[in-house]
Amino acid sequence: MQKWKGQDMDTIAAIATPHGTGGLAVIRISGEQAIARAQELFQPIRGRMPAEMAGYTCAYGYLMQDGERLDDVVLTVFRAPHSYTGENVVEIACHGGRYLTETLLRAVLCDAVRLAEPGEFTKRAFLNGKLSLTQAEAVADLISASGENAAKAARRLREGATFRRISGFSETLLNVLSDLAVWADYPDEDIPEVDGGALERRLSGLLANMQGLLDTYGYGKILREGLYTVIAGKPNVGKSTLFNALSGYERSIVTSLAGTTRDVVEEQVRVGGYTLRLSDTAGMRETTEQVERLGVERSLACLKEADLILAVFDTSRPMEEEDVSLLKQLPVERTICVCNKTDIAKVWQPEMEKFSDIVEISAKNEINMQSLTDAVCRFAARSAVPAEDGMIVNERQRTALQEAMDAVQEGLTALQAGYAYDAVTVSLDAAADALLRLTGERVTDKVVDTVFSRFCVGK
Ligand code: GDP
Repeated sequence: MQKWKGQDMDTIAAIATPHGTGGLAVIRISGEQAIARAQELFQPIRGRMPAEMAGYTCAYGYLMQDGERLDDVVLTVFRAPHSYTGENVVEIACHGGRYLTETLLRAVLCDAVRLAEPGEFTKRAFLNGKLSLTQAEAVADLISASGENAAKAARRLREGATFRRISGFSETLLNVLSDLAVWADYPDEDIPEVDGGALERRLSGLLANMQGLLDTYGYGKILREGLYTVIAGKPNVGKSTLFNALSGYERSIVTSLAGTTRDVVEEQVRVGGYTLRLSDTAGMRETTEQVERLGVERSLACLKEADLILAVFDTSRPMEEEDVSLLKQLPVERTICVCNKTDIAKVWQPEMEKFSDIVEISAKNEINMQSLTDAVCRFAARSAVPAEDGMIVNERQRTALQEAMDAVQEGLTALQAGYAYDAVTVSLDAAADALLRLTGERVTDKVVDTVFSRFCVGK
């Protein structure tokens, strides 16, 4: 088993299930002492003692402390390397509830077993070669994101699609590098000269493939963070009503959170499996007076930043100048045109023809809201990529991939400019290095620590 330099793999434990009330909870122990510690604490009712248990088997019994039965539990043993972390793992399924699980965890902790840090189980899985860094990040970044599409993608990415795709890039690079090296190292041998044109084509093809992976970043971001959505429209067209209708749409999963980036309150709403982050700056719950106070500039800034704009028009009456001026500023490719108040009347506005996505609803009566959901899904799906082919899910991955691409581009430029192959080699070496950093095959401890610190404890 690969051991990480300088790390002593001591034994760790944590509650692996969410904190709070629930029927059951799981305490996970991982490391060399995991089974020995379970042996000290467990008293079987049926079945064997942990030390005699084979991997993937469980036993029913009591968790004991100072002769006292703390809880009746089901204990499962996983033997290295066949476990999530690659180490010996014991999972104790106990009864739920914060007090009880914390009591059991305290009983498990001792000189030989310490509390796990955030993400430490998954970090060990990575260090033991069970997961690539891109896989681990897919677990962290997408599973923690809400939305069924994010969860689906995470499942696929967990299987290592991104890692495989990047390995393909590395392989191409290494092939090119070895051709260059053979030619450079054995100039006197009868080795055909490297064909510059063929080399250029290989590198251009590689760059195009890398760009394809980089382009998935936008979709990864949508799944992870949701679509930053602005509801635009002049006063009284029904923006607040639409906002409320959207919030109520799947009310059980609507959350409010303090925005960290924009310093405003954002409302997260789920529409058709996607998360929309509706920003208060859109004036959704502000009075008309406040909207006016926000000023045109601020509204325009919001429109610029938005991933998606829901432009609301009151189509029960003819358009006014304000509508027309807004309409002119809306970027068609990011806008869904929402014709509201269709329960009163539908006055067709020829200016709307510029939009490819037009929905007719009544926000107040919640009529035809499904058409809006469908339009949002169509919009998000336009940037969707099949997760089977891998996806870039966070900024760290994006930067490393961009660095690799820049280095390949540099090599290609050197080649086209007729520089010596040595110069090309230097650039391609740098590209290969960036790819190793991307998959985590060559990263610093600091990067690894940063990646896993974003996980929750017990993961
Ligand atoms: P905002 O200023 O754009 O946020 O508009 P509001 O959401 O406050 O709505 C303005 C008025 O239009 C309110 O009296 C709403 O009840 C009404 N309204 C909103 N949507 C509809 C709709 O679909 N049909 C009808 N008949 N009235 C609506």
